[in-house]
Amino acid sequence: MSLTNRILIAMVAGILFGSLLDLILGSSGISAGFHNIIQTYVVDGVLELVGRVFIASLKLLVVPLVLVSLICGSSSLGDSARMGPIAGKTMVFYLVTTAIAISTALLVAVLVGPGTHVSLPGSAEFEVAAPPPLIDVLADIVPSNPVEAMAEGNMLQIIVFALLFGYAISHAGEAGRRVADFFRDLEEVVMRMVAILMELAPYGVFALLASLFSDMGFSAILDLGAYFLTVLVVLIFHAAVVYSFLLKSLTGLSPRIMMQKMRSVWAFAFSTASSGATLPITLRTVERRLGVHNSVAGFTVPLGATINMDGTAIMQGVATVFIAQVYGVDLSLTAYLTVILTATLASIGTAAVPGVGLITLAMVLDQAGLPVEGIAMIIGVDRLLDMVRTAVNVTGDATVAVIVGKSENHLDERIYLNPKADMEEH
Ligand code: ASP
Repeated sequence: MSLTNRILIAMVAGILFGSLLDLILGSSGISAGFHNIIQTYVVDGVLELVGRVFIASLKLLVVPLVLVSLICGSSSLGDSARMGPIAGKTMVFYLVTTAIAISTALLVAVLVGPGTHVSLPGSAEFEVAAPPPLIDVLADIVPSNPVEAMAEGNMLQIIVFALLFGYAISHAGEAGRRVADFFRDLEEVVMRMVAILMELAPYGVFALLASLFSDMGFSAILDLGAYFLTVLVVLIFHAAVVYSFLLKSLTGLSPRIMMQKMRSVWAFAFSTASSGATLPITLRTVERRLGVHNSVAGFTVPLGATINMDGTAIMQGVATVFIAQVYGVDLSLTAYLTVILTATLASIGTAAVPGVGLITLAMVLDQAGLPVEGIAMIIGVDRLLDMVRTAVNVTGDATVAVIVGKSENHLDERIYLNPKADMEEH
């Protein structure tokens, strides 16, 4: 059986097993001793251990892979004049798709009105962590110490360093060629590590989902059903319709093929709820299965994992309208525009980790003049939505990589069209 199918089966099995544990742990028919054994040894023991090892094994690949892939990509560009257009187009697509995402979310939420029949919570509390000032975010893009950047996994800084390094390689004559060869070999080895560690995925995905669903608290979803469904529908619409339309109309390529090849990436995104942890798989898929040359993919995908969060923007759009409706605040047109602008910009400079969308939501609400404590109402259902929106976030990164790759003539369509490309590990 292919690895993708094994991962998908593990996903379903994890969800079912976790829900079963939830039922068992919540039922009054079991003895306290049995409850303890399951909680301690199964949920907090084996599942927790396997899940954590899995996430760590993904994260350990991020820095080496991004560094090596981007150095290879930028050094092979040779003609550094192409770097500008690649970066420019990537940024434009990221910003435009995010703006579309949040606008759709606002529109649908206003039409559906998920918060109109929800009553105000008695004492909601939410601690707001102050976001860093924009000037710091911008100044920090250039690393003062690349080793520190790598030690901390600071993606933007690593990207800047790798671009500069790759550029220098392509201008350093014979020595540069030797170093470039070394990095190309290194890329092959690191990509192999990704393939090896992907073999762990079925166990990791199963453990993560089982432990998550063992205390998911579905009742919260029932209470917030309208909000939950609105976010979910817009997320699915954005991934299935907006991306497909952009891909088809700008490249002429079949979106179906891409969606097929993204399935294992989705499983990783869904179970880890982190674009950052999923990055090695996204990058490998975009380069080896969708055929985007690493001069584009090595830049676009890591950058996207850090700054392009369409799914997160969708949640923020719906949440803003929802909270405004619950608190009975009428949002003006200016407020809507502020939300679009802040949510689009807020996604830049925030980490690609679980739950970060809620923190940036605080910024958005603040700008729109809405009570930040409103976030407390939606926390209960956020984890599940986080999983789905992370899958949308990584799909956006891959879509933009393919579009930019095609427009720059850096897309190998034979690989894109070949359903078996890079299947030896799948
Ligand atoms: N978990 C999301 C991601 O890593 C970010 C968020 O929406 O919280 O892409």
